[in-house]
Amino acid sequence: MTYKAITYAISFIAIMIILTVAKASAQTNNQNDVNTDSLMVRKIYDEGLVHGESYKNLQYVATKIGARLSGSEQELQAIQWATKMLKEIGLDSVYLQKVVVPHWVRGAAEEARIHSSNSIIKLDVLALGGSIGTNGTLKAKVVEVRSWKELAQLKDSDIKGKIVFFNVALDPREIEVFKAYLAVIEYRASGAKEAARWGGAGALIRSLTLSQDDYPHTGTMSYDEKIPKVPAAALSTNSADKLSDLLKKDPELMVELKMNCETLPERVSYNVIGELHGGKYPDEIITVGGHLDSWDIGQGASDNASGMVQSIEAIRLVKTVLVRPERTVRVILYCNEEHGSRGGAMYAAQSKLAGEKNIAAIESDGGGFMPNGFRIDATQPAKNNIWKWSGIFKPYRVSEFVEGQWGVDISHMKHQTQALITLNCDDQRFFDIHHTAADTFEKMSPREIALGSAALASMLALISQHGL
Ligand SMILES: [Zn+2]
Repeated sequence: MTYKAITYAISFIAIMIILTVAKASAQTNNQNDVNTDSLMVRKIYDEGLVHGESYKNLQYVATKIGARLSGSEQELQAIQWATKMLKEIGLDSVYLQKVVVPHWVRGAAEEARIHSSNSIIKLDVLALGGSIGTNGTLKAKVVEVRSWKELAQLKDSDIKGKIVFFNVALDPREIEVFKAYLAVIEYRASGAKEAARWGGAGALIRSLTLSQDDYPHTGTMSYDEKIPKVPAAALSTNSADKLSDLLKKDPELMVELKMNCETLPERVSYNVIGELHGGKYPDEIITVGGHLDSWDIGQGASDNASGMVQSIEAIRLVKTVLVRPERTVRVILYCNEEHGSRGGAMYAAQSKLAGEKNIAAIESDGGGFMPNGFRIDATQPAKNNIWKWSGIFKPYRVSEFVEGQWGVDISHMKHQTQALITLNCDDQRFFDIHHTAADTFEKMSPREIALGSAALASMLALISQHGL
């Protein structure tokens, strides 16, 4: 070996040693990161499961405030209560963001009856949110359809002056009930305008649930200013079946409908916002939130007192464990999600106007049952980072990360942030009580609520420490 060759060999060995040491050191750093992150998540869960406050708060919102439709006094109570809770946590700032919201009221309870030959049969019915009333009593013949296609195939004379009965069931073969619900939500949202387009006098919708019972499920609907407005209501699944069976025997039967709902002038409401400033990158913002309004029946315990209290708890857990996160974490309790989504829209508009640097927006509005992971809509680099953390979530059974998110409030942030993330929960029981009088506190589990809060807090903490 020449002197030159020996020098080359020594240099080569030296470089290899340096590279090996560097690689080992990078691995150690990654390992340290994982250890630190795992430890942080463990601490969040320990605090949440031992000293958690979300279930107690859920009880207060559901049973002391109760149903809190946007524009109502109860919604204002929820706003005041949330402000007080966030101040008690000791966040750096807590403030209200003004939002003008629709104010629809149900009035006296609805009534519906079938008049068939010699019998009168009562139906379980609830006006849809935003519907006009019947201005006395609407009594008309009924035409039943099971799809838009069936509606399109009818002659104008089949529809004119009649109540169009959209008897469209959720597909029981769909494992994710949320997905089955989204597949038919258009019938509730647009049934009234499609019925009126062809001269229909009203719309009755089969409740959007797989559950077979007497609870009608309300929900929002809208009109088209170019088409006359007609009343729209939901029938319980039992009532829908009863009406369908009787129509087969007596197509000439009539339904009598009495609805006293009306839309009053808009009102001022508020989003409630609290934040903990980042210690290192205060301009980078990660939000967690849920809507504070609900429908006007039941207690809105699952939808969405659960998401509201979980969001409050998530920021409390982050503060308790991290004291000062690296990036700013912000909790937003949105008003008016159910009937207009103006809270979410206002937050996104104001954030854009302020030129804020948003890293991620997290939401809890999936029912508050057993959490199993997250639904994520993110840029590719953000996705890569989030998916790397799934192992950390595995011991807590929330490691199922699915592409595509369904949160209404955060959807307004779609083009202003790197990631939209919703807590994914077991939805098998959610749509049994969704938007009904049966959505009450005792349906919820303290354990599931606490696990959801800790999952949200962990995602919030990981993003606040690492960015995306
Ligand atoms: Zn909701």
